[in-house]
Amino acid sequence: MSMKNVYIPVAGSTLCQQYKWWRENDMFYYPNALASAYYLLKEPKFVENMLDFPLDKGIMMCDSGGFQAVTQQERLPPQDVMAVEEKCGNRGLILDVPPYSFGGTAMFGGSAAERFEKSVKETCENAELMLQKREKKNFELFGVIQGESEAQKRKWFEIVSKVGEFEGWALSPKPSTDLFQVASHLILAEELGLKNLHVLQIGNISGMMAIKYFASMSKGDLVTFDSSTAIRYGSHLRRMIISLFTNVTLKFSDDFKGTPMCQCPVCKTLGFDIYINDPKGLRALAMHNLYEILSTSNNIDMILQNDKEEFFKIRAGKMAPVYRFLEYGLDKGLDKAADKFRDKLETSTHIHQTQRGIFSFAGETNGAQ
Ligand SMILES: [Zn+2]
Repeated sequence: MSMKNVYIPVAGSTLCQQYKWWRENDMFYYPNALASAYYLLKEPKFVENMLDFPLDKGIMMCDSGGFQAVTQQERLPPQDVMAVEEKCGNRGLILDVPPYSFGGTAMFGGSAAERFEKSVKETCENAELMLQKREKKNFELFGVIQGESEAQKRKWFEIVSKVGEFEGWALSPKPSTDLFQVASHLILAEELGLKNLHVLQIGNISGMMAIKYFASMSKGDLVTFDSSTAIRYGSHLRRMIISLFTNVTLKFSDDFKGTPMCQCPVCKTLGFDIYINDPKGLRALAMHNLYEILSTSNNIDMILQNDKEEFFKIRAGKMAPVYRFLEYGLDKGLDKAADKFRDKLETSTHIHQTQRGIFSFAGETNGAQ
């Protein structure tokens, strides 16, 4: 069984001024990255920093920045997005207009219905223009599926897929910390027969495991997924990541000195003191975090490849229903899986964090008619 998934770390403009990971002489080598066109268009220096990516060796995915644009109430010119995506990457997303209302939250919060028609129309216009403006033969343009309810997502896909041929589709589960939400997007994509998927913003290890498990069963070609976890600076996250991945210590900045040295290439190259005494410490720490996440990703692949039973054992007990939901959904389809797992979905702690309307399925239109 070959692994049909690729983890794509988000390349932050600040981090990449200092450190990169896609050149053979970097601290570690991993030729996959994602950059957002929103920031590429705003920061010419960021574009410069991405131009040494080996496009023949890995995946340089460009997010369109549609979500940033709509939350910042800006309009990006689709032709500019296409141009900068082609300049930096070998894959990219259409400039989607998420059905986001300014009264709602960034996670939609039940606000998708009122914006749906307008958003899908603008998305189609952008996608059409980008298909026309595409110049690079090998550049793969991905459609994006948006929507809050299952009915909306199906309708969105039906409309946008008529615009033209896309090489793949991006899924945007909201919130992406909700594994049932992630799983239902994946099941729907399989049901629609999509062969090349990208899942946006999978920030935690359990999300990564769910995607890898799906990829091991999917009939599709490749599932990529991105995460900005490593580069999100700030004391909270850095403590969480350190404690999660290296078992060093929670009170990182106070207690880091004197703890056993991490043997990762970043810590070995730079030394621990950089995290405490150097103004660049947070960037270095992001690289350590990224290396740890990549190692975890490899370990999960290995376990999944060699011993699926072990994979079942190590998965968190409360996440087991998510895996069964995936298995059942791939076998019987999303509607049947949602019916069968409705009590699990409704009693899951993850479901309590989600907004209303996510798990309304058959017969529900919610603005998508
Ligand atoms: Zn380290």
